[in-house]
Amino acid sequence: MSHWPAVPAVLDNARVAAELEAFAALLDLAESTPYASRAYRGAAAIIRELRSPIMTLVREGRERELRGIGPGISARLRELAETGSIAEVDELRRRARPDLVALGRLLGIAPRRMLKIASVLGAETPDDFRRIAREGSLQRVPGIGPATERLILERLDSEAGQPRRGLLLHAARDLVGGIAAALGGEMAGDPRRWADLSFDLAIVVPAARPAEVLDAFDRLPQIVTVVDRADRSAVGVTVEGVPVALSIPEPAGFGTELVRRTGAPAYVDALEPLPEAADERDVYAELGIPWCPPELREAPFAGEPPRLIEQDDVRGDLHCHTTWSDGRASVLEMATAARDLGYEYLAICDHTPNVRVVPGLDADALRRQGEEIQEANDRLDPFRVLRGVEVDILRDGGLDLPDDVLAELDWVQLSLHAGQRDPGARLTAKVVEAMQHPAVRCLSHPRGRILNHRPSNALDLEAVIAEAIRHGVALEVNGLPDRLDLAGPEVRLAVEAGATVVVSTDAHSVRGLGNMPLAVATARRGWASPTHVLNTQPLDDVLAHRR
Ligand SMILES: [Zn+2]
Ligand SMILES: [Zn+2]
Repeated sequence: MSHWPAVPAVLDNARVAAELEAFAALLDLAESTPYASRAYRGAAAIIRELRSPIMTLVREGRERELRGIGPGISARLRELAETGSIAEVDELRRRARPDLVALGRLLGIAPRRMLKIASVLGAETPDDFRRIAREGSLQRVPGIGPATERLILERLDSEAGQPRRGLLLHAARDLVGGIAAALGGEMAGDPRRWADLSFDLAIVVPAARPAEVLDAFDRLPQIVTVVDRADRSAVGVTVEGVPVALSIPEPAGFGTELVRRTGAPAYVDALEPLPEAADERDVYAELGIPWCPPELREAPFAGEPPRLIEQDDVRGDLHCHTTWSDGRASVLEMATAARDLGYEYLAICDHTPNVRVVPGLDADALRRQGEEIQEANDRLDPFRVLRGVEVDILRDGGLDLPDDVLAELDWVQLSLHAGQRDPGARLTAKVVEAMQHPAVRCLSHPRGRILNHRPSNALDLEAVIAEAIRHGVALEVNGLPDRLDLAGPEVRLAVEAGATVVVSTDAHSVRGLGNMPLAVATARRGWASPTHVLNTQPLDDVLAHRR
């Protein structure tokens, strides 16, 4: 084994996974087959979870023993071990054009499409692109007609005021958290506040010698290019054109910079001038106000924060799917995983037929599923698997299952999947009527939004909250990263009115059960305490909540 050079300490599993993920993203841009990039992403996920160092396995020639690592990826890993980089990644990185991709993001054009348009136009830089587009050449690109051209030109004209696409919470925290860990700093900006979409991605690294940190930032696999470098700050861009801001205060001012780069502008402005301190808690102490959880740093606030709900308060997950509908794991697999997360109960809530786009369960299938749930309960006792359902609200406000079947179930989630764009009065009437059904326990993803794709529906939330209180129906804080519904401010409206919320993952896989922190954080952004959240309670109290 002597031909192997000493592995640099930085090639830990997280770094190797980041290298493979960067490779996958670059392959996507280079229009390679989606199969290749999926394989690299899969390998990255495996390596990230691995307990032993991947580079040790590579040196021992054992990396192929891992599922998902074939000859191609194995060769890349060996190259990484021998040379510290992957030549093809360096080459793809040179061709990636993150500046053009970033402009595409502003214009609402996907990365690959943007690069294609730029290459047809012969645009090498964003300025080229703007000039050539304004000359009236966009229609030379196959697929761009007069309407699309007009749209792109309009967006170019109002570039600064564009509603940008934000990064989803889990992606933002992975990206910024990974960079912060690699540089020995802290996550800041929107993801530290667990904002549902991140626009301001920031990292604060304390250092007496900033040049070393700046160089390390430049070499990170996540950063394709550094577009703006000053003495103590830089902006890097990812392969998807996402800007990431780095600031490097003197260690003595680290806490101060962290406060400044974490809070929303209105929150920070109200605290200024900030005292200089190395530790964030000392900044608050010197200001004479209590430390504030990042999730609450939106509007000016200097009071005592409430005891917010925490992940450890959660006793069970009340919304997940299995292979009976569109989930990827069986009842027993989901239940076992939930038990291993430390929960006391899990509700299985598969879809009903009306949802159409995925398989739904009718009365007969639900009863057969009940037998499988009973078997899981026998095996996992005292852990409890609840017979639940995610029942669709029909056009007329009725439910997509007969009453006698609904009455057999432990936990009925009510869901609106069609008609999200209906007028508010019609939506509200339908939902309120459905909530009155005595079997209903919880209203799923009430606003129906899909982040970056579909705005919230026009539901009259105050009317729904009043109805929820009247009948003891809980309102869901759905933890799917592209939903996070209710959103923080809506949670606050609900709990201040006296309604009870539920934090759920709506998991479609074992891995999806791990999204609970996203739901918990969203509830925290709504100032929710454990007493406001039903599934912080023992199962008997959860089931007694419906009135
Ligand atoms: Zn749903
Ligand atoms: Zn669901």
